[in-house]
Amino acid sequence: MDATVTGGHVEKQQPCKGCNDQYDVKISEAKMARLVELASRSRPVVQDAEYERRLSICSDCPGVQYGTTCRYCGCLVQVRAKLVESTCPFPYEPRWT
Ligand code: SF4
Repeated sequence: MDATVTGGHVEKQQPCKGCNDQYDVKISEAKMARLVELASRSRPVVQDAEYERRLSICSDCPGVQYGTTCRYCGCLVQVRAKLVESTCPFPYEPRWT
């Protein structure tokens, strides 16, 4: 574990949750389905074919982490892809709109 000196004190730096075996950052399918359902309640959603197209692109993207999280915006891609208003934040050229 790394340490830093701040104001004369040595502080241990904790690894992020994604790098720490103590935490599980993966989200179960059931929980993800619930999150998608909650997000979909108050906002327009895309048709199933468009949703699958977006998720397929995300699954091949170098920006997706843990199969769920976009490294460029921090969103859960399963939720982001579901909403009509969403765009892809891939740098310089969105991979889907
Ligand atoms: S950058 Fe776009 S394609 Fe890549 S994971 Fe994020 S939302 Fe999906």
